[in-house]
Amino acid sequence: MPGVPLRSGGPAARIAVIPGDGIGPEVTPQAVKVLKAVAAPAKLAIEFVEFDWSADKYLREGVSLPPGAVEMLRDEFDAILFGALGDPRVPSNQHAADILLGLRFKLDLYVNARPVELLHHRLTPLRDRTEKDIRLMVFRENTEGLYVGVGGFFKKGTPDEIAVQEDVNSRKGVERIIRYAFEYARKNGLKRVCMSDKSNAMTFAHDLWQRVFRQVRQEYADVDSRHLYIDALAMEIVRDPSQFDVIVTCNLFGDIISDLGAQLAGGLGLAPSGNIHPGKTSLFEPVHGSAPNIAGKGIANPLGSVLTSAMMLEFLGWKTETAALRAAVRAALRESCVTPDLGGNKRTAEVGDWLAAKSVEALTV
Ligand code: ATP
Repeated sequence: MPGVPLRSGGPAARIAVIPGDGIGPEVTPQAVKVLKAVAAPAKLAIEFVEFDWSADKYLREGVSLPPGAVEMLRDEFDAILFGALGDPRVPSNQHAADILLGLRFKLDLYVNARPVELLHHRLTPLRDRTEKDIRLMVFRENTEGLYVGVGGFFKKGTPDEIAVQEDVNSRKGVERIIRYAFEYARKNGLKRVCMSDKSNAMTFAHDLWQRVFRQVRQEYADVDSRHLYIDALAMEIVRDPSQFDVIVTCNLFGDIISDLGAQLAGGLGLAPSGNIHPGKTSLFEPVHGSAPNIAGKGIANPLGSVLTSAMMLEFLGWKTETAALRAAVRAALRESCVTPDLGGNKRTAEVGDWLAAKSVEALTV
């Protein structure tokens, strides 16, 4: 999946690493291992600084996102490599909301880029579909919508209880994500952009999406643009995923449709994502969560994390190294050097070691 090098710089970068909870601390070190392996021959000076923000720290010290963290990440780092957050010992998930949503909002990471790309035909549950059919990018608005936490309870805990959750959409917020989707399509030679909403039912919030979409699409006459209601999109993406190149949608629908897409392309263990503000410190994380059911067993699939780090390299402007990482992941799938979730018998660290060697090989080919 082609991407946009957004923070192209010199041959040096500082990366903040936040492994987090559950399988996060198992898969993230594999991605760092692979990055270190390609950095040396490519003469890239990547400095990694690890932060232990997690459920453990929250339970131990009551600290989720420490004071000053946002400013430090913004001013001192080029990118953030994230693992996963979520722990059964913190049922409210408060630390995860503070850290992940906190960073998304406070760093204004308005683009959530989730590529859906089938890397090996045996991985899709769709019959007769191959790599050429499933190759699209979902752009999810990442700073507004139902995730802003505006709302409240009335008469909580009583039979008359009312819960309200507001859907917040600004013209600026809607316009910048739609425009980003068109720009991405144009820069990468992709012909089709689909905007999805539920404007037939959400007659205020998504009327704004409709109006902004109609306005912005006029500036991109070279790109075919269409609209689908989100329910129709869910059907169409399963019926015929080959009809999509770029999908742009709101925060909630993007969350759902990109998980559906992840499943079409082999499951959560493989899906990468980027939380991006062009030109500013951005955060890259696998789509999967902390998967507490398999944490600590050494069998978590690190491919999602490694593909995530490839997205990060692309954001940093390092195309050759990005291609090397992706080639290594394809090779791992081809040669079945994979963990049990993909039908293999390898352990997390074994896959990481294999990918590190294979990426260096791919770099020198
Ligand atoms: P969260 O609420 O944090 O998203 P979750 O457990 O609901 O966490 P995930 O962690 O995303 O959801 O994963 C759901 C299931 O998919 C896991 O329980 C696990 O069985 C499987 N899974 C997810 N990621 C991986 C992975 N990297 N390797 C292997 N299996 C995975």
